Amino acid sequence: MKFEVTILGSSSATPVYNRNPTAQLLNCNEKFYLIDCGEGTQQQLMKFGFKASKIDFVFISHLHGDHYFGLIGLLSSLHLNGRIKPIKIFAPAALLEILTIQFKYSETVIRYPIEFIATEADESRQIFENADMTVETIVLNHRIPCTGFKFVQKKRLRKLIIEKLESENIDVEYYPLLKRGVDLALPDGRALLNSDYTIDSEKPKTYCYCSDTLFDERYFNSIRDCDTLYHESTFLHEMLDRANQTHHTTALQAAQIAKMTGAAKLLIGHFSSRYKTLQPLLDEAISVFEHTEIALEGVTYSI
Ligand SMILES: [Zn+2]
Ligand SMILES: [Zn+2]
Repeated sequence: MKFEVTILGSSSATPVYNRNPTAQLLNCNEKFYLIDCGEGTQQQLMKFGFKASKIDFVFISHLHGDHYFGLIGLLSSLHLNGRIKPIKIFAPAALLEILTIQFKYSETVIRYPIEFIATEADESRQIFENADMTVETIVLNHRIPCTGFKFVQKKRLRKLIIEKLESENIDVEYYPLLKRGVDLALPDGRALLNSDYTIDSEKPKTYCYCSDTLFDERYFNSIRDCDTLYHESTFLHEMLDRANQTHHTTALQAAQIAKMTGAAKLLIGHFSSRYKTLQPLLDEAISVFEHTEIALEGVTYSI
């Protein structure tokens, strides 16, 4: 099952040096989940060959403009392009008010249903579940209420060893039970040990998305042992005072967090406009946590 994330924007605050404000597209089993939607997200989707119409779920971390200014444009385009299927938006409650006013004064009556689910930044909660995964909020520490999101794949059914089943003429009616791990006694007296006919499915993976936040141990439990941790790294550590003032994290701190929480891999992003080149941020993070990569726009990272 596909579980991967494409970076659409990696900049903080403003678009600069061809970097766009924050947005990511998560593909889980060919279903598409948009995480934050900075200005220019529609253009980025087109540039990298994705169809906005395929997005059915949107997760907005907080209401600083660099994380949602692209949303009204995206929703309007979906309307103009004839969308009728619903879209679900998970975001702080005030976003509904903002969208409602924008639609009201442009006299736009969106032709598809928008299902809005308000997130709360007080404690971590499960906010979404389908056959492929669950999503929980991560309570971050920013200047305004902000939640990260933890995307957890569900365990798949066991895989059948089809050649063996066919060679022993085992009826397909038993396949669903075998996939669920059941041992079988057939009417002809044969006993089928599940482990002889199936193999375990891949271990489910977890993607944690943390933007924007101060280094704060209170959210570390929520992100423990994830496969890929995306963490904001707005500044180099020499700017720690500025990071603390603005409730952001340095590249060094992001790496410390990955190390302390047992992440397998770290992706850093949300870079300040003061950095034309990103190598120093990567070098700083790698000095603490080797398995770090820069979140590059247009690149897809498997989780
Ligand atoms: Zn931001
Ligand atoms: Zn912010």
